[in-house]
Amino acid sequence: MRYKFLDLGEVNAPYAEEISRAVERVVRSGRYIGGEENDMFESRLSRLAGTRYAVGVSNGLDALRLILRAYIEEGFMQHGDEVIVPSNTYIATILAVVDNGLRPVFAEPRLDTMNICGADLEGLVTPRTRVILTVHLYGRVAYDAEMQAVADRHGLRIVEDNAQAIGAKASNGHSTGSLGHAAAFSFYPTKNIGAMGDAGAVTTDDEATASRIRALANYGSIQRYHNVYQGFNCRLDPIQAAVLNVKLPYLTEENGHRRKIAEIYNSAIDNRQIINPLWGDDEMVWHQYVVRSTHRKAFREQLAACGVETDIHYPTPPHRQPALAEYNSLSLPVAERLADEVVSLPISSCTSEEDAREIARIINGISI
Ligand SMILES: *Cc1c(COP(=O)(O)O)cnc(C)c1O
Repeated sequence: MRYKFLDLGEVNAPYAEEISRAVERVVRSGRYIGGEENDMFESRLSRLAGTRYAVGVSNGLDALRLILRAYIEEGFMQHGDEVIVPSNTYIATILAVVDNGLRPVFAEPRLDTMNICGADLEGLVTPRTRVILTVHLYGRVAYDAEMQAVADRHGLRIVEDNAQAIGAKASNGHSTGSLGHAAAFSFYPTKNIGAMGDAGAVTTDDEATASRIRALANYGSIQRYHNVYQGFNCRLDPIQAAVLNVKLPYLTEENGHRRKIAEIYNSAIDNRQIINPLWGDDEMVWHQYVVRSTHRKAFREQLAACGVETDIHYPTPPHRQPALAEYNSLSLPVAERLADEVVSLPISSCTSEEDAREIARIINGISI
């Protein structure tokens, strides 16, 4: 393929030397759980998100699981309570809910933003609803004043799945990660800032939630050999913290490049059979540039024939997965339609502006 979808080796090449030195610092420190790199990472992330606290954890799924578990330990919610979630998210969002014995209530996204909208949520609230778990899918902010109003009206907490939108800002000027009561970050290697393995984090302004999550991720213990909760081992690996400390300062630059590529696609792609994503007034970070086609298979085949590699995020909605058999009979037509039509174009630091113009030109020449 002339235009690869993503090449992680190429993404990390500019950082390779700095990362090697950072990893070596950990090796020589003699401290392999917690430590300075973790502390530095947490203070950088909380500054970046604009929250009082950040807690490094093992990955994005664990970040979500721990937030909901902390709410249960606190007594804010209990098994069987309901969590409103988008119907077209990555399955991790839903797994965090069901793992805690909670019930996902699927909110359909808007077709144009491919994200949920606050105005659609009121009708999904029941006496058992406790949380709106919103997902900033593809790097687009899924938070608005009406979502906050629904939460306030019913005493719900908004939790952000911010795996795909680090560095994005809502139209109110606040960063994702600080919009709700707590937020989960993922640093899976393909995300906008990726570790060299699994890593994640939680941000929040709530001191009690932050310390509960820190304890839950560490066998339920705050003080050594004194266990308050039936916790887990979900700590952030200091080698990953060291990698992230190298990469986090480049976030603005990395996201700026994605935005440039998205701008080129947005202005140059002009094919009546292809629907471009909506250009919103939030500061999006373009984790994916997702177009839609009702003839996806042929469209992708023609792109591949011209050397353009694409991907699908995601081909099967969570409620249609065998793992969620209980929900298989639900009809969620918007999520199902999106799963059939979405195509992700290359957008990363290995896609140059020239590549993007060429890919747009190829797309404009396609007739399905
Ligand atoms: C990647 C991702 C997760 C899970 O993060 P991991 O670090 O891979 O566990 C959760 N939600 C969304 C929307 C994601 O994209």
